[in-house]
Amino acid sequence: MAILRCPACGAEEQASSARYECACGELLEVEHSFRLVGREVFDARGLHSPAPLDSGVWRFRELVYPRFPSEAVVSLREGNTPLYSSESVASFVGIEQVKLKHEGLNPSGSFKDRGMTVAVSRAKASGARRLLCASTGNTAASLAAYAAAAGIPCAILAPAGKTSAAKLAQATAYGAQTILLRGDFDHAMALSRELARAGEVELVNSLNPFRLEGQKSIVFEFLAQLGWRAPDWIAFPAGNLGNCSAFGKALREARYLGLIDRTPRLLAVQAAGAAPFARGFEQGWTQRVSVEPQTRASAIRIGAPVSWGRAERAIRETRGHVLAVSDAELDLAKRAIDRAGIGCELASAAGVAGARELVRRGLIGPEESVVAVLTANLLKEPPTESDEARAIEPELDALQRALAQ
Ligand SMILES: *Cc1c(COP(=O)(O)O)cnc(C)c1O
Ligand SMILES: [Zn+2]
Repeated sequence: MAILRCPACGAEEQASSARYECACGELLEVEHSFRLVGREVFDARGLHSPAPLDSGVWRFRELVYPRFPSEAVVSLREGNTPLYSSESVASFVGIEQVKLKHEGLNPSGSFKDRGMTVAVSRAKASGARRLLCASTGNTAASLAAYAAAAGIPCAILAPAGKTSAAKLAQATAYGAQTILLRGDFDHAMALSRELARAGEVELVNSLNPFRLEGQKSIVFEFLAQLGWRAPDWIAFPAGNLGNCSAFGKALREARYLGLIDRTPRLLAVQAAGAAPFARGFEQGWTQRVSVEPQTRASAIRIGAPVSWGRAERAIRETRGHVLAVSDAELDLAKRAIDRAGIGCELASAAGVAGARELVRRGLIGPEESVVAVLTANLLKEPPTESDEARAIEPELDALQRALAQ
């Protein structure tokens, strides 16, 4: 079975523990004793496989949660998301080889489902009676779905006025207790951690290391889709830094197991108004920065990311890069993705926006390849203004005039 280990001081905790913080202050990581498995084991599995191997997460069970019993898995057939090519998005980025991994096509509409299936399965197996998360919205929707599937009550804590109505509507529909907080995500996170330390609830935020184990499957899955030929770069939005950490761990383990023979470089992209990690990178990692976050990309509106330590390691190990882009650049990238018929939430466009900027600076060469991860669905943030004013009379000539415009 797995153990939990502190990457900073090496301290060990039983895998059955619900404590995710080491006494030294660092977050614990899952450490597996891997059985050697080859690519062909994963390649043979797919949507035709018996549950839970028909899930894009549990297809990689030997890498995600070895020996976890199949009957205990709570799955909504997450993963198995498409890897798109688009000439128009590639020309927007400025190089030929761009692929888009669309995590918005998961059951609740974001990549959060990949971690949630693992965290909720484990929480249920260990008898958790109530689940909680702090969220900018997508974690809330995902937890609500998986808690419902597991039959465990859950509560979500989200910043009032800064969480999209669509995401809250999802959480409510799935039956979560939805609590809005006057404050930022960072406040919600801090409060949830206090409550979890008191042992009152099981926290399923990304400081829960089992979430990250599930999120590793984003990387495994697109590597399998690419015939295990690793791209040069993996570009993605960075908020709380769960994905950055998970991708780094996935690549470390894939190299260790011989699934790939070179390591792609990570490109973590933040919104300029919420870019503490980008600043830490620029300063050569001399300190952990926190900021008052300010951006329209609500999913990455985070000023004090919890997974800083493991994300920093991921960037160092992959010779990665961290970048901040403006909201206007996010808008442009989202438009390019939307107009290709693919579509995504605003924050999700960060990978494409960041790759374009590194191409412009010459740090990504014309021959290099990029996989950009689109983290959530276009429908996650519907516009709030009313359509009334644009409506036409229900008459043919009115319709013809409208079409002619
Ligand atoms: C949660 C989320 C992010 C941020 O991911 P982290 O792993 O916290 O850095 C990015 N985009 C979307 C759409 C999200 O929901
Ligand atoms: Zn420690």
